[in-house]
Amino acid sequence: MAHDNLKEYREKRKGGNSGEPDGTRNTDNRKNVFSFQEHAASTHHYDFRLACDGVLKSWSVPKGPSTDPRDKRLAIQTEDHPMDYLDFEGTIPEGNYGAGNVLLWDMGTYDLPENTDQDALSESIDKGHFKVILHGKKVQGGYAMTRIDEEKNHWLLVKRDDEEADARRNPVSTEPESVKSEKTIKDMDNE
Ligand code: MN
Repeated sequence: MAHDNLKEYREKRKGGNSGEPDGTRNTDNRKNVFSFQEHAASTHHYDFRLACDGVLKSWSVPKGPSTDPRDKRLAIQTEDHPMDYLDFEGTIPEGNYGAGNVLLWDMGTYDLPENTDQDALSESIDKGHFKVILHGKKVQGGYAMTRIDEEKNHWLLVKRDDEEADARRNPVSTEPESVKSEKTIKDMDNE
């Protein structure tokens, strides 16, 4: 499979001064890590970032992840991001692509079912279906991602029915604090 690169990422930010990572910070490119960034851009959403193939595969999830296996959360695949974007938190100034506050809402490591590796994950992403087991502070356990519209890059993010499934928990609304700074997105607004 051809490696995705960060061409689209850089094009979208060309000439700007967004203060975002540019992919030059040294990171372990094979680490199984993920994050969710709350992003108050023109539309409010949560960016799901999953390390694979030396980049962060990325999806914009308008409602954020659910812990209830009955919920199907729309996730729109966006451009691959550099690995050093994983723990980014800050304000993208007006006039730049994605202007607005970015808060590191959750971060952690992931496992793959049946001890498969990132090459298998990469193939599964291309095919439009994969499962991961997330070990975040807020988001834990198995999640399935399934592409439902290839043209629009629409996927569904669904909690698997395991021990960490909990229909009553709603971390998106009850645990808004950053895992990096303990701020909320409203705190960032008032700074
Ligand atoms: Mn975003």
